[in-house]
Amino acid sequence: MRIVTSIAEMQSIARTAHGAGKTIGLVPTMGFLHQGHASLMHEGRKRCDLLVTSIFVNPTQFGVGEDFERYPRDMERDSALAQEAGVDLIFAPAATEMYPSGFETYVDVERLTLPLCGASRPGHFRGVTTVVCKLFNIVQPDVALFGKKDFQQLAVIRRMTADLNMAVGIVGMPIIREPDGLAMSSRNSYLSPAERRSALCLNRAITAARAAFRAGETSVARLRERAEAIIAEEPAALIDYLEYRDGDTLAECSQADHRTLLALAVKIGQTRLIDNGIMGEDD
Ligand code: AMP
Repeated sequence: MRIVTSIAEMQSIARTAHGAGKTIGLVPTMGFLHQGHASLMHEGRKRCDLLVTSIFVNPTQFGVGEDFERYPRDMERDSALAQEAGVDLIFAPAATEMYPSGFETYVDVERLTLPLCGASRPGHFRGVTTVVCKLFNIVQPDVALFGKKDFQQLAVIRRMTADLNMAVGIVGMPIIREPDGLAMSSRNSYLSPAERRSALCLNRAITAARAAFRAGETSVARLRERAEAIIAEEPAALIDYLEYRDGDTLAECSQADHRTLLALAVKIGQTRLIDNGIMGEDD
């Protein structure tokens, strides 16, 4: 497995691979890899000849006062996990390689980025779509894999890809959870043991909402109360947002159906965690 840090070298490798008739798959990540990332890599391995994962903590998707500086990083461990998961090449550019001085071009998806994480993290999705667009131009993937853990991000990437006619197939992958239900996340490493236990309330709220929906409750107001009550039982948890939205358009809704999304962002102490579930589906 190779580690490439230069954009020019990565583009040259991509050109050569395509010239030889090979397909390229990309799993974009910010590193500190876990089994959620590995599941994307395993699926990517089946879908292409050259499997690339990018590891880049993207400064433009972090707001002022967020955790860009302290975001966990461990290249040695990440390399071992990526290799184990069948990755051929890690693309790990420096921030100055991706954003040299003079950089001033951004990609902005409009309506889909307004609610949820877009509302609580202004500018976040502009950073995400810009870096993913750049990664697509650099790695030239035929297919790129993203997790449903970041449900809105996946919807935004699909929109960008369609709107800008990018020739990349986007694959959405199920949420991978710890055995106790906590969605895997690099940010889980911030949690103390007590916070780690408190963090289980996110999945508990989703599970309870699904159970209520499957028992016949379709009023979003009542489903919201049900999920909010579960978060409220946890003194260390503070809701950033808890919303039911159409799982395809992210539009607000007052009646739930099997495609309704429950999306939540909850602060556990200083750590903001997100999770989600579609009412009529499992992860
Ligand atoms: P990140 O490194 O957190 O930016 O995530 C990189 C990719 O891995 C994104 O497409 C995420 O949605 C995906 N991902 C992160 N955590 C999980 C998880 N628990 N299950 C599935 N995919 C995940």
